[in-house]
Amino acid sequence: MLSVVVPLYNEEQSVEALYGEITAALEPAAEQFEVIFVDDGSTDNSLAVLTQLHGETTNVVVVNLRRNFGKAAALQAGFLEAKGDVVVTIDADLQDDPAEIPQLLAKLDEGFDLVSGWKSRRNDPWTRRLLSRVFNWATAVVSGVRLHDVNCGLKAYRAEALRGIRLYGELHRFIPVLASYRGFRVAEIPVHHRPRQHGRSRYGLNRYLRGLFDLVTVTFMGRYRHRPLHLFGGVGLLMGFAGFLILCYLTVIKIGGAAIGQRPLLTLGVLLVVVAIQLISLGLVSELITSQHEERMGERERMDSVVEEVLR
Ligand code: UDP
Ligand code: MG
Repeated sequence: MLSVVVPLYNEEQSVEALYGEITAALEPAAEQFEVIFVDDGSTDNSLAVLTQLHGETTNVVVVNLRRNFGKAAALQAGFLEAKGDVVVTIDADLQDDPAEIPQLLAKLDEGFDLVSGWKSRRNDPWTRRLLSRVFNWATAVVSGVRLHDVNCGLKAYRAEALRGIRLYGELHRFIPVLASYRGFRVAEIPVHHRPRQHGRSRYGLNRYLRGLFDLVTVTFMGRYRHRPLHLFGGVGLLMGFAGFLILCYLTVIKIGGAAIGQRPLLTLGVLLVVVAIQLISLGLVSELITSQHEERMGERERMDSVVEEVLR
């Protein structure tokens, strides 16, 4: 069984055509599938269109969110309802081409847990394309997960890969990074991308700025969640050592008779040492929080996120 999850916000003109295209793409494979539309608090007629579609068909599920919570929440709500062993996500605005789904599934069968689309010839204004390039490059460098296009709406997942991922805020942009940090195999294939036909993009250019904050969150949580002192303590130690050397030097020349009270170097040395102590303390407090969290979790639950399979 295959589940297709479609998050949508004010896409009344697109949903019916999208359902038709998904059906056309999946029916030849003769596999059973369901299409889960998540209405993210639309203020147009989307819900009415969906309700009608639900009445006319047998494999449409409609999830209606109380208000507009954003794409991440919409996806998470859809994932929770998905019954399939494989889950595909696709944008509702017809920019992603459902005809690509079989290719994604074929790639998944090669032994990957997540296959992401890559809008290699993106049909959006050039400002968006440029910023998206920079954003994807920064994400690849900072996170260490080398993809051309992390935030493509069209993706296919094995259900296990989704189970541990908690999407909130705007973290949907980093699903491949989150999955990769959890040890899942991530691949990417170029997909066809079409211009938006109805309505406007729901996101402005400031998404890239906010995305950078999320990048820090995701990378920090992925790499240092279980050892925060390594980050804070590491930086703290470096600063503390530099400060210590400066203060030693000043002490020596003070003993030699020089006046040091007016020297900017003194301020720098003191600042470095104080900040270092703060950073190391912050690291220790973070370790306390982490260890409490780990203790509260059951052993089974803790290991489930680590162990792939056991052969007996
Ligand atoms: N979307 C959503 N909730 C939101 C904003 C967007 O469910 O708050 C959906 C939207 O309907 C579309 C997909 O997420 O199906 C991608 O949005 P959009 O096309 O505006 O983004 P872009 O293609 O410009 O990245
Ligand atoms: Mg779009």
